[in-house]
Amino acid sequence: MTGAGSAAGATPAPGERALDILRSVFGYGDFRGLQRPIIEHVIAGGDALVLMPTGGGKSLCYQIPALVRPGLGIVVSPLIALMKDQVDALRQAGVRAAYLNSTLTAAEAADIEQAMRQGALDLVYVAPERLVTARCLELLARCRLALFAIDEAHCVSQWGHDFRPEYLQLSVLHERFPEVPRLALTATADGPTRSDILARLKLEQAQVFAAGFDRPNIRYRVVAKAEAKAQLLQFLSSEHQGDAGIVYCLSRRRVEEVAAWLNERGRVALPYHAGLDAATRERNQDRFLREEGVVIVATVAFGMGIDKPNVRFVVHLDAPKSLEAYYQETGRAGRDGLPADAWMTYGMADVTALLALLDAASLDERQRRIERHKLNALLGFCETASCRRQVLLGYFGEREHPSCGNCDNCLRPARVWDGLVAAQKALSAVFRTGQRFGVGHLVDVLRGELTERVQRFGHDKLRTFGVGTELDKREWQSVFRQLVAQGHLDVDVEGHGGLHLSESAPAVLRGEVPVAFRGEAAEPKLGRRRARGGERAAGLAALDGAASPGDEALWEALRARRLELAREQGVPPYVIFHDATLLEMVHRRPRDLGQMSVIPGVGRSKLERYGETFLALIAAAG
Ligand code: ADP
Ligand code: ZN
Repeated sequence: MTGAGSAAGATPAPGERALDILRSVFGYGDFRGLQRPIIEHVIAGGDALVLMPTGGGKSLCYQIPALVRPGLGIVVSPLIALMKDQVDALRQAGVRAAYLNSTLTAAEAADIEQAMRQGALDLVYVAPERLVTARCLELLARCRLALFAIDEAHCVSQWGHDFRPEYLQLSVLHERFPEVPRLALTATADGPTRSDILARLKLEQAQVFAAGFDRPNIRYRVVAKAEAKAQLLQFLSSEHQGDAGIVYCLSRRRVEEVAAWLNERGRVALPYHAGLDAATRERNQDRFLREEGVVIVATVAFGMGIDKPNVRFVVHLDAPKSLEAYYQETGRAGRDGLPADAWMTYGMADVTALLALLDAASLDERQRRIERHKLNALLGFCETASCRRQVLLGYFGEREHPSCGNCDNCLRPARVWDGLVAAQKALSAVFRTGQRFGVGHLVDVLRGELTERVQRFGHDKLRTFGVGTELDKREWQSVFRQLVAQGHLDVDVEGHGGLHLSESAPAVLRGEVPVAFRGEAAEPKLGRRRARGGERAAGLAALDGAASPGDEALWEALRARRLELAREQGVPPYVIFHDATLLEMVHRRPRDLGQMSVIPGVGRSKLERYGETFLALIAAAG
């Protein structure tokens, strides 16, 4: 595809070309959010930093300008394992795309390099370490270049958690090719990361495009941890039969245990953590991408760059390390814009584990304060009785967000109660038992349980013994957790989770500061929205609840055909059509190619390849 660039004349304006490509190649009716201004800015030759949430539509921001501008677009992407899928998806849409990385043979790479020099490609994905070699830079110097897109640009920052030293060398692009526009793209929001990207990639001249970070289709829920695995199974079977999703755990051992446990109960669950050899990791990731309904049980080692659009849930069986991590991990759910769940179980053990991690890290005083601040923000999110989305977005600087109506606290407002007296009882139990016992024992003392331990330490003789029968065990556990989250108690992480009073505790004991607690509700009976049909796929239930049995059969038939086509070509199913596209087919029942062509996600190339096949299935369904 050759373009007119910014030259004026008889050719259509770049903005129109862009819209035309959006419709004919990608099959979408209109731009979303900031896509149009970003694309126009880059087509005109400007540099840009694009901050957009996952699923916001970053890819088109460089793919379309690369097609409109003359020459070749180079995409820097850190994840070799995923390049093939990205390129396959473009080829399905009829775009001349390729990748250059270490998985190619020398002969294959040579062919692609030749095609690049001859102007036979529109987009080439390159691994960063390869791009900055002298050889590759010389190759680029002999190509006509449309733009550079630097994906996952936060990898250049040491501030975040995905730092990649090779990204630092990418500033060479500016030095060698000052006239070629560059875009850096990321879903990581915070200010320090943003300044790092601008400075280290020499993007000081870039225009910054920051979209709001809300992910309205994700429903946030935090439940008190009791029997985490059983709670997980209940969640999966009542809401996510047959759906694909990710379950995050803190340790490798726990990952293995949970994956095995789910398998025994009939779910296809695959482990993923840094302790597995590379081949196993790749195989498990591949099955997650290519099959339907696979659950990945993983440590945080899993997920960067995963752009499977139909991840229907992200579970945190253990609390994440920070709200940044939580936002990024949950952000992998629902890229396709259909309803998705972020569901966490959280308990005192999580608080202790996170404090222990922080304690063990070798950090200077300043860094430790920052980390402690981040941890407090996370605990605040877990314990809040207000809208979770407000808390989350507020942390990333988006204040004034209205309550969302799509989190547990909005859907089922938590009771907030005046907890001063309970707090005083809890704190004095800590004090009188010598500030070294954990929650279990303290609750026994408060509730007047004559356990062996209580008797051994003579704690039945204390004034606090039995003063707390008004709350049950679970409620007291919640009180202690919230006292830690509010900073009135500290946890001795080296011992056995023993609690001691913090600096602010005496003021509470004297009744000088108010204390409020979030009421511990019974396990919320939420999310029945998708539970109705039992085995029914969640995606279909997203069809405005109007799904008839005939719809269900058609949906299954379309999915089965898609999987067949994907297998034949060795690509993931979503590269053929997204769930959202199949849902529209069920919904609108197109009768001919003309009607099929206006289904979102059906571009010219896919219409030619698959239009008739899918029309036949729809016609057969009546
Ligand atoms: P990101 O890289 O920001 O996470 P993607 O580029 O993968 O997001 O896009 C997310 C989803 O949104 C994809 O399924 C993509 O096809 C879809 N999408 C992007 N732009 C549009 C648009 N203008 N109209 C409809 N769907 C879009
Ligand atoms: Zn809410």
